[in-house]
Amino acid sequence: MSDTLPPLPVLARQESPDGETRKDLLQLPDGETVEVVLLRYRERRSVCVSTQVGCACGCAFCATGQMGFVRDLSAAEIVTQVEHARRESGPALSNVVLMGMGEPLLNYEHTLAAVRRITDQRGLGFPPRRVTISTVGIADGIERLGRADGDLPVKLAVSLHAATDAVRDRIMPINRRYPLDEVFAAVERYIAWTGRRVMFEWVFIAGVNDDPAQAESLAERVAGWPVHVNLMRLNPTPGYAGRPAPPESLEAFAAVLDEAGIPHTVRQRRGSEIEAGCGQLRRAATPAAHPVDSV
Ligand code: SF4
Repeated sequence: MSDTLPPLPVLARQESPDGETRKDLLQLPDGETVEVVLLRYRERRSVCVSTQVGCACGCAFCATGQMGFVRDLSAAEIVTQVEHARRESGPALSNVVLMGMGEPLLNYEHTLAAVRRITDQRGLGFPPRRVTISTVGIADGIERLGRADGDLPVKLAVSLHAATDAVRDRIMPINRRYPLDEVFAAVERYIAWTGRRVMFEWVFIAGVNDDPAQAESLAERVAGWPVHVNLMRLNPTPGYAGRPAPPESLEAFAAVLDEAGIPHTVRQRRGSEIEAGCGQLRRAATPAAHPVDSV
């Protein structure tokens, strides 16, 4: 694979009625496809890019996880998605999030090579603080990111979604390989090495992970750490029976975090009208190989 790729054909496109979220399905040179999501918030434009075709992690609520793993993307295939977004958005494109299809830290070499090109002044020149790597908690990858690549001041987001193994095992099979003790230990070391704040993501599923007791467990785990928790309701997918938790659950959860002094933001679901949760457009174009019915 060469270092750079020509613009990739757009096979499908969906746009939300308010024009704030757009998803493009790009065709790779070997015929595989990946999703790129462009998000607009006031004057700011962000892009969410993929690092793998499919994903081996199998998160129950995720359309990409439901389709299984196909292959890693090369660094050039990751960078070309950002170039696509820049062509579409122009200089307003300010943030890059590696939170699309795939688990970035299971494709570590290519992901980091791509991030270095995205942030290099001779490459795309994005400020590293405007680039976020999002992981489900690949503990050794988090440690490597802090130890070997800690010079790169990108943001780290950990998709947590539960603060006890019993709950996390139900929705994230990767938790059996990297249980929460290992994930939190890796995050603690990452913070010690880099001095940087870590974001935790929490998608609320009714009756699964929306109990305020989960917030208490989280508060015990991260008391005093420089973290920020992003809370949002589930984006439903056709292959998963779980439903978004009611807004009151988020409020009760957020109240526990407030009490514990843990910074958090309640985020709006974006793009559910256009199936902008990762993997859903590709899934619509390619019927799922491994549907997951429930947890
Ligand atoms: S949420 Fe991310 S890590 Fe989990 S299955 Fe989907 S793409 Fe993979």
